[in-house]
Amino acid sequence: MKIPITVAYGDGIGPEIMKATLRILEAAGAELELEEIAIGKAVYERGHSSGIEPSSWASLRRTKVFLKSPITTPQGGGFKSLNVTIRKTLGLYANVRPCQSFAPFVATKHKKIDLVIVRENEEDLYAGIEHRQTDEVVQCLKLISRPGTERIVRYAFEYARRHGRKRVTCVTKDNIMKLTDGLFHKVFDELGTEYPEIEKEHMIVDIGAARLAENPDKFDVILAPNLYGDILSDIAAEVTGSVGLAGSANIGDEVAMFEAVHGSAPDIAGQNIANPSGLLNAAVLMLVHIGQPDVAAKIKNAWLVTLEEGHHTADIFEDGSSQHKVGTQEFADALIANLGREPQHLPVTQFAAADLERQPHAKLVRRLPARKETVGVDVFVNWRGQTAEDLAVQLQRANLEHLKLTMITNRGVKVWPGGFPETFRTDHWRGRFTVPEGLAISHSDIVTLLGRVALEGLDFIKTENLCTFDGEPGFSLGQGQ
Ligand code: NAD
Repeated sequence: MKIPITVAYGDGIGPEIMKATLRILEAAGAELELEEIAIGKAVYERGHSSGIEPSSWASLRRTKVFLKSPITTPQGGGFKSLNVTIRKTLGLYANVRPCQSFAPFVATKHKKIDLVIVRENEEDLYAGIEHRQTDEVVQCLKLISRPGTERIVRYAFEYARRHGRKRVTCVTKDNIMKLTDGLFHKVFDELGTEYPEIEKEHMIVDIGAARLAENPDKFDVILAPNLYGDILSDIAAEVTGSVGLAGSANIGDEVAMFEAVHGSAPDIAGQNIANPSGLLNAAVLMLVHIGQPDVAAKIKNAWLVTLEEGHHTADIFEDGSSQHKVGTQEFADALIANLGREPQHLPVTQFAAADLERQPHAKLVRRLPARKETVGVDVFVNWRGQTAEDLAVQLQRANLEHLKLTMITNRGVKVWPGGFPETFRTDHWRGRFTVPEGLAISHSDIVTLLGRVALEGLDFIKTENLCTFDGEPGFSLGQGQ
């Protein structure tokens, strides 16, 4: 029975690698009914600011399976990333990126890489909530939620368990971002206790990235919040030989999307030199997902044979390990001619029963909310005055009787009381107002305070409530506090 899937050719090298991939899928006997949609640049240019038309959403929600080529997203301005929109809108919370080396057939410094990156796919700095707050300062909100983290952490452990993986390495920067990355690490520790057979380790992302570049063979499953996962998976794919090799699965409760790890590579678009392997490997993951594991294995094995024979695209071509420099379509031709064959040296791929079943959806039990009390407020102001002392005088004049101005920071560093003249100051200031222990502050207190701050002629740009949750502070200290 043919399975309907949605297909998008994308931008840049997208159309050529998709053409090669679909030719291989057809030749291998994949039972697919393709629904083609247009997404990306052409759609933006037709006036759909989201980069996707309503009928395309309908197709995705109908087929629930999406094979997608990369699309171009403008840097530093312009329309929002459609990739991120699709992942979030369809609830594709887990981005699974297997990376393997194929030594000695594909040149790499690291001969034994076999790792999987499980990247959180919806949260973190990719919330896309950015503001220019003052003339000099812009901000991007980093959002990490407990339910979102629990889902991805559980997914990583379940994935490791099902695939016989031994270790999960969680990567964060919780020495600096103690609340956001701290929550991710904490949930990893909490849920990890339910998987006693799996070795657990945590690394700060900087050393984690360094180790991944130098000793990728030491990693098994890497679990990371969105941004670090994005960066680490490019590193991992590149050290196997090329970013053009790795495919990925974006998994949600209902819908799954399969795509290459790399982008639209505009620098080589239209030249028939791109490596189609990333998208092809994504298609292999897709075939397993939709219950066609034999076709998936047939393609994967023919692909390994093609690598062994040294039919290599330019990105992995090296004198010594390569025999024939081939273009995108010629690589597909060589692979099609190898369908039905098995590799002689590289391990033959067989998809195990564990691969065939879809990943069980991470069971999520929302906790009862903690007892929340508001014990203060941070008021951010855009201010071009001279010294923190001057600002303190104004903020104290605006203050309410039962609140105390406890600190002023500039870009997060405490500059009052005390403070060093060496500290660089921009126009982005924060006054922290708190209540004495045991008291609370109401919303109307905050509104009154803001009214008084405005009467002082201060340009407030936002407030953040300071809350405790079951008595635990839900806010960080100022640097130097
Ligand atoms: P990129 O991955 O497109 O390219 C980086 C480098 O790798 C380039 O030199 C490119 O030629 C090379 N490369 C990438 N894929 C290759 C392949 N299959 N074969 C051979 N060489 C390959 O990254 P970029 O240049 O930073 O981004 C280009 C565009 O892609 C941007 O608009 C970006 O937003 C977008 N992008 C899209 C996705 C996606 O659709 N999922 C992912 C990442 C980036």
